[in-house]
Order: sequence, then structure tokens, then C-alpha cells
Amino acid sequence: MALIVQKFGGTSVGSPERIAQVAEKIAGFRAAGDEVVVVVSAMSGETNRLLALAQQVAHKPSLREMDVMIATGEQVTIALLSMALNAQGVPAVSFTGAQIPIVTDSEHGKARILSIDETAVREQLNAGNVVVVAGFQGVDEQGNITTLGRGGSDTTAVALAAALQADECQIYTDVDGVYTTDPRVVPRAQRLERITFEEMLEMASLGSKILQLRSVEFAGKYNVPLRVLHSFKEGPGTLITTDDHEDSMEQPIISGIAFNRDEAKLTIRGVPDTPGVAFKILGPISAANIDIDMIVQNVAQDNTTDFTFTVGNVDYDKAIDVLKATAQDIGAGDVSGTTSIAKVSIVGVGMRSHPGVASTMFEALAKENINIQMISTSEIRVSVVIDEKYVELAVRALHTAFGLDAPNP
Ligand code: ADP
Ligand code: ASP
Ligand code: MG
Repeated sequence: MALIVQKFGGTSVGSPERIAQVAEKIAGFRAAGDEVVVVVSAMSGETNRLLALAQQVAHKPSLREMDVMIATGEQVTIALLSMALNAQGVPAVSFTGAQIPIVTDSEHGKARILSIDETAVREQLNAGNVVVVAGFQGVDEQGNITTLGRGGSDTTAVALAAALQADECQIYTDVDGVYTTDPRVVPRAQRLERITFEEMLEMASLGSKILQLRSVEFAGKYNVPLRVLHSFKEGPGTLITTDDHEDSMEQPIISGIAFNRDEAKLTIRGVPDTPGVAFKILGPISAANIDIDMIVQNVAQDNTTDFTFTVGNVDYDKAIDVLKATAQDIGAGDVSGTTSIAKVSIVGVGMRSHPGVASTMFEALAKENINIQMISTSEIRVSVVIDEKYVELAVRALHTAFGLDAPNP
């Protein structure tokens, strides 16, 4: 008998029929003797629908009220799934985040989990129930409803698995595992049998939306065995593991390719090249609570330099305003920017032992005539910023160049 935490994403609970199918699947685990805690997302499209609704009422809605509203999506699906389980003869009971309680900080819209009281869940499991928990939501110490950021149900599931010391956390979704890249963009992408936490962290932070970044951080920190699987197709899925198989002959150099279209690039020209200039430019950006990603400072000419950096698309307008004010303050030249860039990254622990990976990447992009605007690297990753319109071409070219394409059927 195992204790399993299972999470079903939006498309997996997107209709009454699918909810019944999910219930059937859970019933199967129960029949095999497992104890099951289930985390569900809102029905697909529901969170977006609610967000759009708020925009029709207020231009800048209160973040507290936004959380009260978007937490309802998951409250619907926990009740529906519990009803479906009961209808199939499986005793089940639902819990919202606040009922557990899953206590978070008060950062509405991107709250972090502080603690989970597993007493109620254990009691219900001991009483023979399947426990169905609302993903994505918690409650702060003052009793306000909070949410964990888009894709946050993954994190709810992993955090519950950690708190309960579950035998496995299974993330059921609409693909049958983690692929070498998004299979929607590269049809010849291949499912990975396993991927290391380190690689999965990079993939998630570089824009692969298959798992929320925080869920991977949590799983790595608390050693939660984590697997991504298809909700309605049998198969082994992908195991996220600590074992990096570095000595294995089959270890590919590159495990995956991630891309992110949600970035913007800003440039400030004619900056007086004096000590402290990076701080003068980026200090105000950080003070405005804007996360900076890549940074490039050009070699100075005539005692002035150009400075370019990237931020998330959502922060672009704010960042341009801050940068224009800074340009005035420090006597720099013009400020420009664009949101039509994308970041494409190759990820793999195999890079550590294989020099020349970056040049293979640059060569593949050059062959497609794709101009690289910025570059950044870490031990197991190389990222480039390119024009957004070439992102799919770039990802496909890299997928082929690194030998990741599935053989032709
Ligand atoms: P859910 O609603 O179940 O949480 P998501 O839409 O958040 O599902 O995540 C699943 C989607 O992630 C897939 O449909 C796929 O298009 C996308 N995806 C992006 N990168 C990858 C990857 N490397 N492997 C598999 N899927 C990926
Ligand atoms: N419903 C939330 C979202 O759409 C959380 C989730 O699906 O994980 O982002
Ligand atoms: Mg998701």
C-alpha cells in the first residue's frame, strides 16, 4: 500500500465526462489498495475567464479580491470530483486550501507556502476517504485567501506530498511526460524517461510551462519523488530524479530546449562610463520590483557605453518609464526597447563534460540566418535572445542539431 498524491490539471478536469474519467482512474488506485490525495486545478479556461471578468470591472483590481475570485475555479472542481467519486462508490471529501489549512505569506497572486497542517488529511485518509484538495490556493496568517501564481496547483501537490511524506507525487496532464521540448512546437520531440531536478529546474525557469518552477524547487528540497504522466493514457511518464547518470554512455549532452516569449529587451545608450553605472541603471529597476534577467554592457567608446537588459513582458511599460527617468538623472542618451524578442535555451547536465556545445548552438542558428542579440550561460545551460518571430524555427533547428528528433515513423 502506497500513499500517493495525484494532481490533475485543467484539461484533465475540463468537462463533466473528464471528471468522471479522472474519478474512475482514482478508483483504480483505491481498488489496488493505495491511499490517495488528489489535487485539482480549475476547469481549463476558467482561471483566464475569471481574470478577464475582473478586467471588465476595474482596470487595476485589488490583488486581495483577485485571489478571492480566482480561487473559486478550484473550489468548483474539488466538489465536482468528490461527487463523481462518491457516485462511483468511492468515499471522498473535498478541502479548500484554507480548510486544510495551507498557510502562505500574504503576497497575493504569487504567495509562497509557509506550512501545511496535515492533520485533517490524515484523519480523512484513516477514515478510508480519498482526499480532494483545491490546488493553487492557500490562506495567509490573517485568514485572507491567497493564490500561488499561474500553474500553482503543481506546487500544492508537491507541497502536500512533502508534508505527508508520500511515496510519490504524480502530475497528470495532457502530455505523457516531459519532452525534449514542447511537443506542440516540435512534433518530433521525444518523451524523456527521466530528467534530473537540476535540469527540470532550468527548463521550468526558462519558460517550459509543463511544471511550475516552485513545484520543482519544492520537490528537490524535500526529496519528493515526482513523475509527470498523461491523465488518460497508460505509460511510465517521466521521472524527475536526483540521479544525473553522468557516467552513463547514453546520457545525451542536451536534455531539452526551453523557450520563453514573455520577455522584453530595453537599451539605454550614451551612458557615462563611470564606476557604479550598472547600479545607477539597475538599482531603480529593482527598486520598482522588476526582475531583471539577462544583462549586457558594451565596451565603452568615447567614455560612454550602451547597456541592454531583459525583463518580463508584464513589466515592460513600467521598466521603460523607470529607465527614461534614470537616463535624465545620469545624463545618458536615448532609451529604446521591444517586447518582440524571445529567449531560447538549451539545457543538459551533459554540457559539463562536453565543451563546444555553445558553438554547435550558434552554428545551427547561423545556418538559419537567425541573429543572436544576447547570450548567457550557466554550467548546464546556454540561452540566447532572438527576434520573437524566429523562435519556432530556432527551436526546431536546435532540436535537429543536437540529435533530439524522434526517428521518422
Ligand atoms: P496542466 O493544465 O495539466 O497543468 P499545462 O498546460 O500547465 O497543463 O502543461 C502541459 C503543457 O506543457 C503541454 O500541453 C505542453 O504543450 C507544454 N509543454 C511545454 N514544454 C514542455 C515539455 N518540455 N514537455 C512536455 N510538455 C511541455
Ligand atoms: N488554475 C490555475 C491556473 O490556471 C492553477 C493551475 O492550473 O495550476 O494557473
Ligand atoms: Mg500547469
